[in-house]
Amino acid sequence: MRPGIAIPPDVEYILNRIAGAGFEAFVVGGCVRDSLMGQSPSDWDIATNAKPEEIKGLFEKTVDTGIRHGTVTVLYNGKGYEITTYRVDGPYTDYRRPKEVYFSANLKEDLARRDFTVNAMAYNPSVGLVDYFDGIGDLRRRIIKAVGNPDKRFNEDALRMLRAVRFSAQLGFDLEADTLASIERNSSLIVNISMERIRDELTKTIVSKCPERFGLLQKTGLLRHVIPELSALMEDEDMSCHMLKTLTCIESDAVLRWTMLLHEIARPVEDAEGEKSRRRLQGLHADSTGTVRTILKRLKMDNRSSDNICRLIYYLGMTLDDDPRSVRKAVRKVGKELFEDLLKVLEADLLAQGSRFPGKGPENGNDGIEKLNRIREIYNDIIATGQCTSLKELAVNGTDLLELGISRGKETGLVLEKLLDAVLEDPELNSRDRLLELARRFAGDHCQHN
Ligand code: ATP
Ligand code: MG
Repeated sequence: MRPGIAIPPDVEYILNRIAGAGFEAFVVGGCVRDSLMGQSPSDWDIATNAKPEEIKGLFEKTVDTGIRHGTVTVLYNGKGYEITTYRVDGPYTDYRRPKEVYFSANLKEDLARRDFTVNAMAYNPSVGLVDYFDGIGDLRRRIIKAVGNPDKRFNEDALRMLRAVRFSAQLGFDLEADTLASIERNSSLIVNISMERIRDELTKTIVSKCPERFGLLQKTGLLRHVIPELSALMEDEDMSCHMLKTLTCIESDAVLRWTMLLHEIARPVEDAEGEKSRRRLQGLHADSTGTVRTILKRLKMDNRSSDNICRLIYYLGMTLDDDPRSVRKAVRKVGKELFEDLLKVLEADLLAQGSRFPGKGPENGNDGIEKLNRIREIYNDIIATGQCTSLKELAVNGTDLLELGISRGKETGLVLEKLLDAVLEDPELNSRDRLLELARRFAGDHCQHN
């Protein structure tokens, strides 16, 4: 049976236009793989024996995306399509990228330079599926297998090892035995790859539909070279289980998943007896997010994500009670923009508890979840009734305090903080009159003390 690939009309138009000029054109790579799996591709890449200049002559609007590598983007009906001339890679010298690339007249050569068999298929409606490396068989067997000799391919470009794990997580496929063994042998080559590219692959792996396959990075030895601090923790089987499980217990969002992945590095954890203990593993201080920050900096994570991850991990260790006053105080500390994420992170950690301490009854977990649900209800109520949890939501501001003769910056700040403390205790106090009255008293106290 010929597998059905439903090519969108615009892509078909582009293929026909190139063929009409006497060249070959195929859709290739991810779009063929996804179509054969019954998923709709995010983009359609095209390979051709026409040279970039020839492609530019055939279409009205084009962009020179990577002309040196033979890629031209054709803009058609408001969308962009990457069209790349058949290529063979020149010699690889630094475990990263070929020094030069050469154009080829031959589709088979172009497919042979691609990383995995499931990514090395091409299709067009007149020829049908072109599959020299049994990609279709590996799709059926659900495996990620290097095209050609895996040792050679990973030595050419070490990033492919992380891509193998990433596709395994995205597609839910296993690594083929020789490919897996080769990654184990060559894992140390990953140090040749830039941190940005490593980080992007790690993020794609953890936001995927099978994030627990991140465990393959530990299994293959890649993680030891990429995040040694995490790798050290994951040597403990129970810990490793717990960390991978927490990834599956939270929605697919980069900040939330990174938080779960790294939370055990910084957090004071309960030991098997259920007592709070400070964990010191490999000399890491359990009660600091310093190590997490160091890791994220090394990975060149953007500042905003990095801050949010560190804050969530820090607050994960905070005691949070299920009464409105305690929740308001927590919201003040954490901020409304991050509090819902904190609840998600707490929940994921609780849901995965059982996997960290096998045999430790689920009652604990359930108690925790019920308490968390009450906290969420209280929080929703705080939002719905517009309760004040920050200085900017107070019914008075610094200018109002001027009327009372409070004008020095420092004093103004202190009085506002005290007013917020009072409002967190009793939300009813958040009216201009009552706060000015309170402020008058605070200011008096303050003057007496000075
Ligand atoms: P998606 O874009 O959905 O993540 P994809 O398969 O399109 O998946 P890309 O990274 O966009 O992945 O790469 C497009 C194609 O280019 C791949 O399918 C593969 O054939 C080839 N390719 C990409 N990177 C490499 C590499 N490092 N080595 C060999 N081939 C590669
Ligand atoms: Mg792609």
